[in-house]
Amino acid sequence: MHESLDLENIHVYGARVHNLKNIDVTIPRNSLTVITGLSGSGKSSLAFDTIFAEGRRRYMETFNAYARQFMGDMERPDVDKITGLSPVISIEQKSTNRNPRSTVGTITEIYDFLRVWYARAAEAYSYETGEKMVRYTEDQICDLITKQYGGKKVIVLAPVVRGRKGHYRELFEQIRRKGYLQVRVDGDIKDIIINMKTDRYKVHNIEIVVDKIIVPTNGAEKGGGMERMRKSVKTALALGKDVIMLLDAETGEARHYSKLLMCPTTGISYKDPAPANFSYNSPTGFCPTCKGLGVVNRIDVTKIIPNPKLSIKKGAIDPLGKYKDNFVFRQLEALAEREGFSLDTPFEELTPEAQDVVLNGSPEPLHLDWMRMYGAGASTYDGIVKYIENAADDDEDDETALKYSAECTCPDCKGNRLNREALSFRIADKNIADLAMMDIADLRVFLDEIDDKLTDRQRKISGEILKEIKTRVGFMHDVGLDYLSRYRSAQTLSGGEAQRIKLATELSRRETGRTLYILDEPTTGLHFADVHKLTEILKKLASGGNTVVVIEHNLDVIKCADWIIDLGPEGGDAGGTLLAQGTPEEVAAVESSYTGQYIKKTLERTYLCEEKQDDE
Ligand SMILES: [Zn+2]
Repeated sequence: MHESLDLENIHVYGARVHNLKNIDVTIPRNSLTVITGLSGSGKSSLAFDTIFAEGRRRYMETFNAYARQFMGDMERPDVDKITGLSPVISIEQKSTNRNPRSTVGTITEIYDFLRVWYARAAEAYSYETGEKMVRYTEDQICDLITKQYGGKKVIVLAPVVRGRKGHYRELFEQIRRKGYLQVRVDGDIKDIIINMKTDRYKVHNIEIVVDKIIVPTNGAEKGGGMERMRKSVKTALALGKDVIMLLDAETGEARHYSKLLMCPTTGISYKDPAPANFSYNSPTGFCPTCKGLGVVNRIDVTKIIPNPKLSIKKGAIDPLGKYKDNFVFRQLEALAEREGFSLDTPFEELTPEAQDVVLNGSPEPLHLDWMRMYGAGASTYDGIVKYIENAADDDEDDETALKYSAECTCPDCKGNRLNREALSFRIADKNIADLAMMDIADLRVFLDEIDDKLTDRQRKISGEILKEIKTRVGFMHDVGLDYLSRYRSAQTLSGGEAQRIKLATELSRRETGRTLYILDEPTTGLHFADVHKLTEILKKLASGGNTVVVIEHNLDVIKCADWIIDLGPEGGDAGGTLLAQGTPEEVAAVESSYTGQYIKKTLERTYLCEEKQDDE
């Protein structure tokens, strides 16, 4: 058969990359090929630097010249010819992800599907009271009001400011211009006067008094009472951005109604959730304090005072160093004098109060005599911690700030990465971060038992998405990653783990097929049972119409291979030769191949791999 017509095999002719000695190899398509050999024998040179490099180069050539200039030069690997090459995907040890936001959940897409699921099916709870959030249509609101307040005198309010600081002079003016006469400010109803304002430094709640009505009883005549109430409700909903408040004129008790998801007691409301609301990469979802990282850098006192046996003058405060005549030391001198401690005392012997004031400052102004010369006699001392933090904020001295800080769990989201609203949506009593924190094994159990815990509505909308999530979680289990949680940062993964995750992700993409996968020792760090599972996955990928090439030392993988390429005999200059290629039995027959002699023994003793497959 002419080589180029061979659809069954990939042929590499005259490979000379690095130490490869002009070798020809054959890789059967739709099968699992293992490249073996000692370290430095040329395995990566063949798999990655020749086959993958050529595959990628050909892929790049499909782009036009303009696009190619942004991709960098793709040098042609030193090889005569490769035939039968299909699109190549490499799943390597080296390709670690440097993005701190990248996690197991994001690489596997499991988290993306969880976000969609939560946006559609989760129930919202108030982060203030824990109550289930409710939402009503305008008609439902009117019905509820007649039911709850029929015959009573109520005040219809439109909330416009909730728990925010400001003087609100313009707002009061706007309300007045719209023709309203009264507002309720922090619980008190007041007439709007010209130049009305609130204390700008205090937190306020402001509502517009829209109407004072006697609520018609349910089923009352379709007369003016009902019409007027409906109109007031409509107006108040418009002014209050879909939230209204009703005040019982007798008892002063308030109640909220909303077209949005709303806490019935406090009136806080949530936007309709979209998948982005559950993303720790998006400002709409992430915790504002740590911006979705789950950790923050905080000043670490033990780094500021590395040696508390020193006095402040002798250099106890590391960022300040030894005493010198500068502004901070003059402040410290004045502070010590006022607070009654000495800069000559070892830091550890200072009273806790003195230590605290040095580190965290004092709100009381310090009087510095020498400053009078410049017309200013007082300054506040904010403390060493603040100085370092400010330096970091100015971005000028980021290095210093980093030197004295340590990473700790974000105090606001407790490492959950999301804002409190996102964390208040739950399915079967779990928020999305609870699921992301679970390892794959626990998540599988949770998903297996989920059906009974869903409401009818949830079950109806969950079907398809749940299937996607379960498939992906199943693949993660199959490649032996049961112990990983979706929040594990991609940076902390071992090379073997990262490869298996990518493999699981590839498997869950249904459109795979006709692809050449190249993997670099994917069994690294795997337990015996998991090696077997991984091998099965690789075989599954191959039987699904893909070609799988794996660099591997693990005998359990080698003996299950359809094809072995053994390079050697040694590393470096003494390597790069093809010692044997063929089926495990064929390679076992080659005396000069280490791998051959190695697998010969196992092949004689057991046919573990085949037996296992016969069982299935
Ligand atoms: Zn946070």
